[in-house]
Amino acid sequence: MRAPVQVAKKVAPKNPGPTNKKQKAQDRVRWRNVWMTARMRDQFIAAEKILLKKFPNAPKLSFSKGSWMPYSRLSGPTHNGAGVADLRDSPYNTAQRKYLDKAMKDVGLYPYYREAGWDGSADNSHWHVLDQVTTGMNASAKRQVASYKAGRNGLNNNAPDRSYRPKTPVIWKYLLGRAVPV
Ligand SMILES: [Zn+2]
Repeated sequence: MRAPVQVAKKVAPKNPGPTNKKQKAQDRVRWRNVWMTARMRDQFIAAEKILLKKFPNAPKLSFSKGSWMPYSRLSGPTHNGAGVADLRDSPYNTAQRKYLDKAMKDVGLYPYYREAGWDGSADNSHWHVLDQVTTGMNASAKRQVASYKAGRNGLNNNAPDRSYRPKTPVIWKYLLGRAVPV
């Protein structure tokens, strides 16, 4: 009688840990052509995985601006410190955009979707994405994190943000490599 064949089940580890175990959460890393913290990169990687699982042909994430950037006319000093990046929305269709927005929020990022014309220019739509851990973050970005937590849009008018939010707030745990309820 033959022994039953053992089929190894491929189960994703519950706590996969950091993408690069040599890096600390707040280390500056270069990823997809911009600078950001290691923990922010890991959150984007997790969100991208969720997106690509549903839409295998969706383009990978790409950025128009990272962290530790000089003052600019459009962003002011917001990108001066850690924990902030501008993600391009133009590679995605409406369904992918909605799904990616949710995926980022579900891994603990605070993305603000800025539609074309938000700043008075004809076409500058993108996600302005914040990490909710504000270590080394510029003061105006910190104010946006507080605004997000209060259900607001992070702009000068501080209007309500009616886009998707996780029912239970979550935060990314860098050493676990996943988001957990706050
Ligand atoms: Zn921005």
